[in-house]
Amino acid sequence: MALCEKILLDEEVSVEELYELAEFLNANPEAGKHWPGNQFVEPLQEGWADGVIDSSELALMERLIVETRREWRRRVAPMEKTEAPAGADLTSGFAASTDSGELARINGPDVRLEVPSASYPGSNHRVDLKTLTCDCSDWKFRRSTLPEGHFSRCCEHILHAFEHLGVEDLPPMLQAFLENTKPPDPEKNWYLGDVGYGSILISDAPHGWSDVFARGKDGWGMFGCNFRQQRWKYDSEPDGAGAIIPLIKEKFPE
Ligand SMILES: [Zn+2]
Repeated sequence: MALCEKILLDEEVSVEELYELAEFLNANPEAGKHWPGNQFVEPLQEGWADGVIDSSELALMERLIVETRREWRRRVAPMEKTEAPAGADLTSGFAASTDSGELARINGPDVRLEVPSASYPGSNHRVDLKTLTCDCSDWKFRRSTLPEGHFSRCCEHILHAFEHLGVEDLPPMLQAFLENTKPPDPEKNWYLGDVGYGSILISDAPHGWSDVFARGKDGWGMFGCNFRQQRWKYDSEPDGAGAIIPLIKEKFPE
C-alpha cells in the first residue's frame, strides 16, 4: 500500500513506477497472493504481454490504484453508520458556488463527524464539513490557511466524511471531486467553468498539471491537463477539451 501511495503522490502514473510495482510483486510473491497486491498481478502481466505499456493501460492502473485506496480505507478505517443528524437537510446550502472572478467554494452541510485515521488505527480525526476543518497534521500544516470553502481545504478525512454521508443530487463536478480518493494539492486553486454541458471544475497548474473534473466518454471524472504543452494525461480528454485549455489560460493568467 505504501508503494501505491508513492505512485499516486506525483501527478502521473509512469511506466517506471509500474516497473517498480511489478518488481516488488516479483520479489515478494506472498504480496501478490493477498489483497491488495493480488489486484495488480494480472493487469500488470496483461500490460506487458505485448511488451509496451500504452497510455490507456496507465490510466487503467491509476483507476485501479484509486479504487484500491478507497477499499483499503474502508477496511482499515471503517466508519460507523450514521452520525448525520436526523432530519437535517444536507443538501440545502451545499453547493459549489462562485461569483465572477472568485475562486470556487464548497458550502458544506452543518455536520461534524469523527473519521477514523487510516494511518493510526484506533484514533479518530474530528471533521467539520461546514467549515472544511480537520485536526490532522496534513490539514493543520498545509490547508488551514486557505480561505473558507476553498476546495483544497479537503484532506483525505474530509473526503472520507463526504463519501460516508453520501449526499445525493450534487452537481456532477462536485460529486466527481469528492469521489476522488486523492486529496487535492493544497497549492492548487479552483474555478468553475462552463464549456456547454454544465459546470466543470478546473485547477491552476503550480506543478505543470491542472486537475479538471468534467464529463468524459465514461461519465464524470478527473482529467489531467498540461495546458502549456497542450497535452491531456494518458491522452484521455474530457468533452469540450478544445475549449477547456483556453479556459484554464483565461482563469489563471501567467
Ligand atoms: Zn484530515
